[in-house]
Amino acid sequence: MIEVKDLCFDYPGKRALDHVSFTITPNTITALVGPNGAGKTTLLRCLAALDRPLHGSIKIDGWETDRFSRQIHEVCSYLSDFYGLYDELTVTQNLTFFAWSHHCEDNIDKQVKETAKRLDIWEYRDVAAGKLSRGLRQRLAIAQTLIHRPKILLLDEPSAGLDPEARFHLSQMLIQLQKEGMTIIVSSHILSELEDYSSHMIVLDEGLLVKQCGLTDHQSTNNKITLKVEFSEDVALHMPVIQSLSDVNVKSYEKQTVILELQGNQQSQQQLLKTLIEKQLPIISVQEQKQRMQDVYLDITKQKAKAKAKE
Ligand code: ATP
Repeated sequence: MIEVKDLCFDYPGKRALDHVSFTITPNTITALVGPNGAGKTTLLRCLAALDRPLHGSIKIDGWETDRFSRQIHEVCSYLSDFYGLYDELTVTQNLTFFAWSHHCEDNIDKQVKETAKRLDIWEYRDVAAGKLSRGLRQRLAIAQTLIHRPKILLLDEPSAGLDPEARFHLSQMLIQLQKEGMTIIVSSHILSELEDYSSHMIVLDEGLLVKQCGLTDHQSTNNKITLKVEFSEDVALHMPVIQSLSDVNVKSYEKQTVILELQGNQQSQQQLLKTLIEKQLPIISVQEQKQRMQDVYLDITKQKAKAKAKE
């Protein structure tokens, strides 16, 4: 569990974080987004106990970052946007050094090999980091953050410099790490990519937290699930039956597709499916619709533009 309370951080003459508070539950992937200069890097550095806030507190697994930085460095791993590699050392040496410095105890060689393979850099194991391409350096930097198997991963622009295939592998790897129990916070400007794997979203703007939300409806607090139901024939023929269903609100329909909002949880979703089948409606598929990150983000920027125009 990550608990941030009333966090303020100042650079000389500049407030970078302004009374930011939020909680992150374990085993989630949170996308940290916001325009340039919003405070994302500053927040990640404070979470990683690399910078000390002016005011407020951060607790990670019960440890306060400003008092227990050593414990924080053990549970959290941080990938900076300017990753630090030892250019003279090879891929294997860089990873081994990081494993040592994180006090990895058992079978470092095996861990180095597994991590390098996971990031697809094992074939470059004997190449000096300084001679790697930007994308390969980025993969090595990500491998370094994973080497001691942290519980929490803080990634600042992890896909910068990666080719499309490596970006896809990174997305798949983050999903796999979450399945293995890791809690991940990722900052990026590429919303479409974040959307593939994030379960939650935090939006910062000018140091302020402007939104925190879950990206699937059943994670949101209002207990609503949005479903896209596809029919094998024109949905208009079946609207009277659909509209008579309890706890269901028809948001829109067109041709063979209807978007429904269901009040309830995943059990209610199961019940709805059962009812639709019992009523012999010609359904082809039912898909839960994620709240689109891009839509949430654009809504916020539109609201901001409106507020500025009023000033
Ligand atoms: P980006 O998306 O451009 O990486 P960001 O959201 O990560 O931006 P930060 O790097 O956290 O934003 O910066 C937040 C604010 O603090 C910005 O206005 C930035 O100019 C300022 N800032 C960052 N580092 C320093 C510094 N060392 N000294 C003074 N101001 C700084």
